[in-house]
Amino acid sequence: MNRSIPRSLFGIRNVLRPTVQRLRDTWNALRHGSCAVLLYHRVIELPTDPQQLAVTPDHFDAHLQVLKERYRVLSVAEFEHHLLHQRRFPRRSVLLTFDDGYADNHTIARPILETHGLQALFYIASGYIESGREFWWDELERMLLLNEDPPAAIDLEVAGTRSSRALGDAGAVQHVYEELLDSLRRIPSHDRDALLDGLRSTVHSTEARNTHLPMTRAELSAFADSPSVVIGAHSVGHPSLARQDPEEQRREIVGSKRELEAMLGREVRYFSYPFGTGADFDATTELIAANAGFLHTAANYPGPVHARSPRHRFPRHLVRDWSGPEFAQRMGTFLPR
Ligand SMILES: [Zn+2]
Repeated sequence: MNRSIPRSLFGIRNVLRPTVQRLRDTWNALRHGSCAVLLYHRVIELPTDPQQLAVTPDHFDAHLQVLKERYRVLSVAEFEHHLLHQRRFPRRSVLLTFDDGYADNHTIARPILETHGLQALFYIASGYIESGREFWWDELERMLLLNEDPPAAIDLEVAGTRSSRALGDAGAVQHVYEELLDSLRRIPSHDRDALLDGLRSTVHSTEARNTHLPMTRAELSAFADSPSVVIGAHSVGHPSLARQDPEEQRREIVGSKRELEAMLGREVRYFSYPFGTGADFDATTELIAANAGFLHTAANYPGPVHARSPRHRFPRHLVRDWSGPEFAQRMGTFLPR
């Protein structure tokens, strides 16, 4: 076995960091309890899923069975009580959350949650509701990876720079797909949408897939009426917020709250950062979310939540399409013992 020995202090610190974090989590769990907040996106069976966002209905049902047998799934109100009032979380607590607002949340995930009598917090990107458009990362998949007859090259202007990209073979197409996934999250939503408008006609792929639609307004209203559903906001157009100037961040954050409240006729009190990694929000983003009136805000990095966790960037565990036994095994690693 070839184990490299870190020579610098920096290297040693990096090696020790997970151990120190584990000790800190255990200490916090002892004092403040702990809760695993789970992050789902979709419950559906799909032929392709390059972002690994979908969990099959059978697997989702198996996850909920594991949770009901071995954990304590909190309602959104219970979670809020412990986080906001800094009250110790009960042992083996779990909160279910979903990001984005896919129609399958209503048609497939909701009935399964209702059968189990469980609740989840659904964060919705308001600009996609009723749009009839696929989410922008899904459009990139459809227009590029699933396009059977793409042009040999496309001209694209991203962030003021115009250049040509070859789409000659599968490798080139994959490269452009990955480049655009990365660059389109950095630019304002309206610039990205303008680029996608042009791309749709250039590559002859204009029809949204029925399997990939966000909810309509009618679906969102019916969805929000379920006791298994609590609605939160997730920006208007799903950009990486920290890459936008503060005014644009405010438009995205406050705008999604206002739009969802107008659609639902009730207050929307929770937010999650689009993408949610440490590169996608910063102190300015946190402040805007707090000032917008959101009570708490979810991020997307792994770790347990405890009663003293930061209200506007608490961690979540991303859930993949795991079988019941694999989910049970993963859950065993999500909470400190
Ligand atoms: Zn999202």
